[in-house]
Order: sequence, then C-alpha cells, then structure tokens
Amino acid sequence: MAHNDSMIAATASTHWWHGILARSLLAMAGIALLMGMVSSLFVGSMVSERVQTQALLKLNELLDTVESTVSIACFTNDEGLANEVAQGLLRNSEVRRVVIRGTEYEIAHIARKGLGAYTGEAVELRQVKSPFKANDIIGTVQVEIDQQVIDARVTQEVRFAYILMIGVLLLVILATGGSMFIFIVRPIKQTSDRMHDLDVTTGEALPIPQGHRSSEIGRLVEDVNQLTGRLVETLDQERDLRQRQEIAQRKYHDLFDNSSAGIFVARSDGRIESCNRAFVELTWLAVSNTEDDSLVGHHQQRRLGEAQWHNPQALLAMIVISLLEGSTQEDDFQLDGRRGDTRWLHVTVLPLGDGSVQGTVSDVTQIKRDQLSARRLAVTDSLTSFANREGLNQAYAHLDDKTPPFTLVRIDFDGIRQITEALGVPVGDRALLNVANRLRAAMETDDFVARISGTKFALVLVGAFDQQVIAHRINVLTEHLAQPYPSLDDDRSVPVVLGVRVGAACFPQDGSELQLLLRRAELALANVPLDSLACVFFDPAQEAAVEHRRRLEDDLRVAVATGELALYCQPIVDLNKGRVVGGEALLRWHHPLHGAISPEIFVPMAEQIGLIADLGRWVLKEACSRIAHWRNDGLNLYVSVNVSVRQIPDGLTPGMVADALEQYGLGAEVLALEITESLLMNDVSIAQEWVSSLREMGVRIYMDDFGTGYSSLSYLKRFSLDTVKVDRTFVRDMNDNNSDLALVRAIITMAKGMGLSVVAEGIETAAQLQLLRQSDCGFGQGNYFSPAVPLGQFSSVAMRINEELARQPASS
Ligand code: C2E
Ligand code: MG
Ligand code: MG
Repeated sequence: MAHNDSMIAATASTHWWHGILARSLLAMAGIALLMGMVSSLFVGSMVSERVQTQALLKLNELLDTVESTVSIACFTNDEGLANEVAQGLLRNSEVRRVVIRGTEYEIAHIARKGLGAYTGEAVELRQVKSPFKANDIIGTVQVEIDQQVIDARVTQEVRFAYILMIGVLLLVILATGGSMFIFIVRPIKQTSDRMHDLDVTTGEALPIPQGHRSSEIGRLVEDVNQLTGRLVETLDQERDLRQRQEIAQRKYHDLFDNSSAGIFVARSDGRIESCNRAFVELTWLAVSNTEDDSLVGHHQQRRLGEAQWHNPQALLAMIVISLLEGSTQEDDFQLDGRRGDTRWLHVTVLPLGDGSVQGTVSDVTQIKRDQLSARRLAVTDSLTSFANREGLNQAYAHLDDKTPPFTLVRIDFDGIRQITEALGVPVGDRALLNVANRLRAAMETDDFVARISGTKFALVLVGAFDQQVIAHRINVLTEHLAQPYPSLDDDRSVPVVLGVRVGAACFPQDGSELQLLLRRAELALANVPLDSLACVFFDPAQEAAVEHRRRLEDDLRVAVATGELALYCQPIVDLNKGRVVGGEALLRWHHPLHGAISPEIFVPMAEQIGLIADLGRWVLKEACSRIAHWRNDGLNLYVSVNVSVRQIPDGLTPGMVADALEQYGLGAEVLALEITESLLMNDVSIAQEWVSSLREMGVRIYMDDFGTGYSSLSYLKRFSLDTVKVDRTFVRDMNDNNSDLALVRAIITMAKGMGLSVVAEGIETAAQLQLLRQSDCGFGQGNYFSPAVPLGQFSSVAMRINEELARQPASS
C-alpha cells in the first residue's frame, strides 16, 4: 500500500514539461524547425532562380523594344541615337552597363557611376540585324546586369517567404496544441485527477469524460474500470485465500502441537529438524520435563538414533528407502524405556521432496500385545494349554534339515464323548484335563504335544531311538493313560476308565510332511485291535488296505446299482416244536474278482457311504415278496430283517414298512425287524419312538447280538421288544459248565421273566442244541440246521429241517 502511495505522489509531482502537450508541442516545434531548415534551402534557390529569370525576361523585353532603334543606330553609326537607347536601357535598375557596337566600332558605351572597367561578365548579348537585310549582322548590344540589385531582390523575397512559412507553422502548432489540449490532455488530466481520489474498493468507477464515450479515451477509461474491477476481485480472492491459509496454518499448528501422535521431520542421516511434544514423549527422547520442552519445535541437534530403538539401523534404512523410492514407508519398531519398560511404535515416513521425511509415530504396544496373545491363542488349545492343530503346523514348519528323527504318535481316547453326552461338557472337559495332565507328566524335555481336535492328541517324540525303544516308551505311556481316572462327577465317586488307542508314524521313513505323517499315524491308529493298548506303527500295507477298501466301496456302489447283491435266508427253528418258523434275511455279495464278501465288511461300508437306506428298503421288499410267495404256496413263515442303526428313523420309517407290507398284501405278523444294542448309543428317545410305532403296527422287534454291547435288560424293558437274539459268540463258547452257558441261561431266564422270546444264534453242533434246549431256549438258528440259503431254496430247506427234526427225539 505504501508502495502505491509513493507511486501516486511521484505522479502528482510531475513537471508540466513532462506532459503530453508540452512534449507534443516541443516535438512539433522541432519538426517545424527541421522543415523550415530544409525548405529554406529550396525556397532560397527557387526564389533566386525565379528573380534571375524575371530580370532576364525583362531585359530581353527591353532589348526587343529597342531593337529596331539600335538597328538604325548601327546602320547609320549614329552614336547619339545609340547613346539614347543605351541611356534608356540603363534606366532599369538591374542594368548597370550598356555597350552598343557597330560593324566597326563602339557607338555607345554607358555605365553607372563608379563602375569599374568592363569585364564582359553577366552580359546579355543581342546581335543587331540590318534594317534592310534580315540576315546581315551589323552590330551587337551588350547589357551588363547588376547582380547586386538582383541579389537584394532575392534576399527580400526569401525573407518574406520565411516570415510567411514561420507564421504558418506557428499557426499550425498553436491549432494542434489547442486541439490536443481540449480533446486529449484535458480529459486525460481530468480522468487522472479523478483517479487519484477514486476508492475502487467501494466499487466506485471512473466517469467517462464528456464527449468521449466512443473515443479512445472513453474506451481507455472503460478498460481501466474493468481492470480495476478485476483487480479488486483478485485482491478480494487473494485476501480470502490468505485468511483461509492463515486459519489452516493455525489449525495445523494446533494439530501439530496437540496431536497425540508423534510427528517429526528428519533428514536421511536421522537428524531431527522438528518434532512435536507427543513425539518426544513417545520416543522417551527427553530426560526431564524442561528438556522435553526444549526439544519440541525446530532444532538440528538431536537424532532419531538417540532413542533406545532395538534396531535403529532398520529405522534409518526405512527413511532412506522412502527418500530413494519417493514413497511412504511404515513399520513397527521396538523401543526401550528408561525404567526397563518397552514400547512398540508404529512409524510412518513420507518424503517431503527436499531430502527430508515427515514421520508420524503412534504407540501400538497394546495392539502388539493383543496380536501376540491372539497369535498365542490361535496356536494354543485353551482347555489343555497344549498346542492346537495350527500350533502343531507352525511348530512343524520350523523344523529344518537338521531335525533329528522323531515319531509322531496319534492318541485317541474312547469314552470321553460319551461322558460329555451323559454328564455334560464340564465333566467331559475335566476328563480331558485329567488326560492332558497325565500326558504332560509323561513328556520329556524335547517332546511336543498338541490337541488336534476333540479327544485326539498328537505327540512328537524326538530322538533317534529304534522302534522297539519307542514302542516301549509308548506302551508305558499308554498303560499310564489307561489307568482309571479319579471320579469326574462329584455325585458319583466311581473311577473312570477310558479307552486309549495309539498309532505312530516315524520321520523320515514314513514321510516328511506333517499332514502325511498325521494321516499315516491315524491310519496306524485305525488298525489298533479292539480293546488293545498296543501301539500300532504305520505300515505301507495299511495304506494298501485303505486303497483296497476304497475300491471295494466303488464296487459296492456298482453292485447295489446293478443288483449284484442277493438276499439269502437262514432258518429259525422253534426248538420246542422242532420246526422252522421263519428265517433271517441275510445279504450276500459275490464280488466278480474277490468272490464272496462278508456282510460284516460290506454292510458297515454301505452305512458309511450312505447306501444302507436304499439297500435296506430293497431287502425289505425282497423279504415281503418272498413271504407273499410262500403264502401262495401255503407256507406260514415269517422273515426277520436286519435293520442298521443308520436306517433309523428316516431310512426305514414305519410308513415305509407299512407300504411294503401292504404292497404284498401281508399282515405285520409276518415281519420281524432286528435291531442292535448300538442303537442305544444314539438318541434313545428317537429309537424308542420308532420301535413303539412299529410295535403298534404289530411288527415284531428283535434285539440282535444281545450281550455284546452296552445295553442292559432294563433297556429292553423300555423298548418293549419281542425277542432277544443271544449272540453267537456265547453259543459258540458254551460248554457244560462255564460262564458262557451261565450267561446264556441268565439271559433266557430274565428274558422269559420279561415276557420276551429268545433266539440262540450260531448253533453249530447238536451239543449246543441240546444245552440250549436244556436251558429252555425257545428258538434257535445256526449252521447246524442250515446256513443262509438263496430265498428260492428256503422252503425246501425248511421242509428238510422239519423232517430231520421230526425224526430226532426232542431230547437230542
Ligand atoms: P447277524 O444279524 O447277527 O446275522 C447272523 C450272522 O450269523 C450271519 O452272518 C450268519 O450267517 C451267521 N451265522 C448263522 N449261523 C451261524 C453258525 O452256525 N456259525 C457261524 N459261524 N455263523 C453263523 P452274516 O450273514 O455274515 O451276517 C453278518 C452280519 O451282517 C449280520 O449279523 C448282520 O448284522 C449283518 N447283515 C447281514 N445282512 C444284513 C442286512 O440285510 N441288513 C443289515 N443291516 N445287516 C445285515
Ligand atoms: Mg441278525
Ligand atoms: Mg446276530
């Protein structure tokens, strides 16, 4: 603003001769002077030439006038006449000498007084002709011109011309100056004066001088007005911008000062150019509060490396990379405090373009701790504190080439699931904790245990011992684990016995990948004989068996689809009456390659691969169709059909059974369904409902393989069954006086007490038959009578048995 004022003052004090008018007049005067000088040259010579010519013309006219008189004077040599003529010519002011010459001599010679001798210069010569003969030259007239007279005349005329010219030029200058003043200088001056008092910030505009609306001055004023308008606008914008910048700067300053994140600007060598308080606090750079204050702001003394970073080089390297790549870089850095505490800081740096970086620092200690515990949690089993499957994976991933041989042992506990189901999750967890504690106690320093799921544990035994030593160690461990556990349930003080199964795979011979080793140890575990505590080591034959089984499963699918399976029937004999009363439907599979395959192999297989429901319904229909057949033949036989647990309740609903019976016009009394005690391992209420629905329909329900499972007679009561089938293993091992016979007898007695019939399975010998008859067993079934035969042969086999039995005395 001061600058503008001084400019205006300078303009105001300008001298008048600096003005346009003065300059223009000066320029015009100069031009006029130059023109006068140039034109004076022309004017002088022109005037002189014109005066000379006029003088000569006049002389010639005079000579013409006196020509005839001179001719007579020459012809007559009349000097008097000649002198008269000469006198007459001399009266002209320009003539100063006249000489008339006859043929022989001068007849007149007159000159002005004081004139010197005749020089012959500036002479006008006229020849005089004879008055009689025009061609005869009889004399001459010489007239000497007075150059001074001519020059004086020239001077006079030139002066006049000059005066005229100067006058005209002065007039032109005056007229031009006046016009300029009126039309240019005055309006400009007015506008200029007005401009000095103008306050453009109020939106005031310059007035256009009168009469100049469409002149250059008018346009100039309009342009100036527009320009000032734009200027004011720009100034306003600039002011706004400046204000906003100032506000933003204040804000950023506040942000910088009060930010809880540490902010710093540092050079590539770690020199701190500036930083805020939070940075000083976070990095523990200040020793005292006063120093804390002195560090904040701008300084070049401190370096990033002064803080107690665990890895200051990495921080500096990150800054250098950020500067080199021109990109933002970030990482977490650990820092030691003065009191032995440690802190994690997340540092982000971005290049500022002047060789320095701007960095932000935030405390991520808690996040780091959380991450650490989350990572720990992710790899730890919360119940046992052992590693979980992920933990095992990670521990395994850290093994290197120098890893010594080790054995991966898979341990499974049977019974914990049942405990959990029966007594609740807390009791089940307590069982697992007991197990884990025993495992932990048995571990050696280098061993590693993981709970990989539910009741499954993996144990890594490190060391290059041979298989026998490992087997011994595992056996000791297994025995230990199999010992009864103290009561888990406060209400019952019964020690708990858990089933333990152990399989092992050895690194490196059984594989180097963890998943492979786990799979192979699992496979070995699956091969542990029932109720055995022996550890089974992986053997490639186990894999072959699995493969064989897989192929067999495929073949079974095909067999079911193509009707490769056949239904046989084994007679059931009323031991009292000595006649066949029905038969048990038994599936047979003759494999094109492997021959006869036992239902004990393929039925569980069908259960596992989800074929059992279809298969079961087919068996039921086949059985019903056969019974209907027999009915037509007048045979009153029933069929008992095996029902697998997996078929209950949806695979073979009471509705389906009713449909099958109805389809062949049969009553429910011709059908018995054999279920096993394993049914009780699942939801008992569902099984109960299924059984009672069928019982209400009149279908008989047999409890198959009785005595091999967990069930008790009390369960039988709840299920309202018809018959129990004593498992063939008891019948097989029965002899005169042993526990099996006692057991069979006890079953028969109790069953009878509950109003149930008894079928003894697997009778192979007459002795067994006799013992059973003596034990008052109602029904029997076994190869002694007949193995299972194709359905088509059953009626004749039944007749043969009836005949044979009729021949035998009832006591045999
Ligand atoms: P199960 O229901 O206990 O059938 C009786 C088994 O004892 C039959 O074995 C039969 O052949 C066999 N057996 C009968 N008498 C004797 C004997 O005197 N000595 C010997 N050593 N064995 C005898 P199989 O046919 O091998 O069937 C085995 C099991 O397969 C059956 O046991 C049954 O649980 C199951 N099964 C057979 N067919 C079917 C079926 O259609 N559906 C279902 N779910 N299971 C079936
Ligand atoms: Mg059966
Ligand atoms: Mg059986």
